[in-house]
Amino acid sequence: MGFQFCPRCATPLVEREAGGKARPACPKEGCGYVFWGNPTPVVAAIIEHDGAVLLARGRGWPEKLFALVTGFLEANETPEAAVLREVKEETGLEGELVGFVGAYPFELRNELILAFHVRASGPITLSDELEATKHIPKERLKPWPFGTGMAVRDWLERGDLVPERAVTPRSAS
Ligand SMILES: [Zn+2]
Repeated sequence: MGFQFCPRCATPLVEREAGGKARPACPKEGCGYVFWGNPTPVVAAIIEHDGAVLLARGRGWPEKLFALVTGFLEANETPEAAVLREVKEETGLEGELVGFVGAYPFELRNELILAFHVRASGPITLSDELEATKHIPKERLKPWPFGTGMAVRDWLERGDLVPERAVTPRSAS
């Protein structure tokens, strides 16, 4: 992960102390580029549909691997708008935000997962990015021990006892 050459001026990068850690940095005077390696935000949807949780298998994934619908944010898009857009694009479903589940670092891919609970209805139309979906009743849903599985675990543990933090969709102005 990272660059060998400065993406601004193409000088070979060197290790330099920045913000308390050694990081790839540009040695050229006046450039000052530092590769911080900041994580990329990713939105994820726990979709309730037809009385069950809807999981999806991405194109090329192993046969048995199903997870949450996820996606990247567009420039200047709020996470709330992004998660509903991804649900629509990937499954064809009209979603409604129920609440924010939490934020989860996904070290393996240097991402920060922002997970939302979404209720959706209507017929499913898979996008090219998905190979299959399946409906799992909430009581049979088992969180997987990485990535979006952490959000599923919290969502299940929280059950209906603690109200989820309310989410008000807002525009990115
Ligand atoms: Zn440079």
